Amino acid sequence: MAVPQNRTTKSRRNMRRSHDALVAGNPQDCSNCGELKRPHHVCPACGHYDAREVVATAAVDMDEDAA
Ligand SMILES: [Zn+2]
Repeated sequence: MAVPQNRTTKSRRNMRRSHDALVAGNPQDCSNCGELKRPHHVCPACGHYDAREVVATAAVDMDEDAA
């Protein structure tokens, strides 16, 4: 198994980790319902994208084939 030849100092370790921070998302207001949504994604609240409803959000009876 490969073993590091030299100890990684706290300084080197911390310098490496200086780029590891997570950045916050950039939520924006949905132009249809005003809910916060991810940019370039369909609004999860109302199913609209670019002022069109692209995902039906009305209740659908999924059990219609069961009977
Ligand atoms: Zn919306």
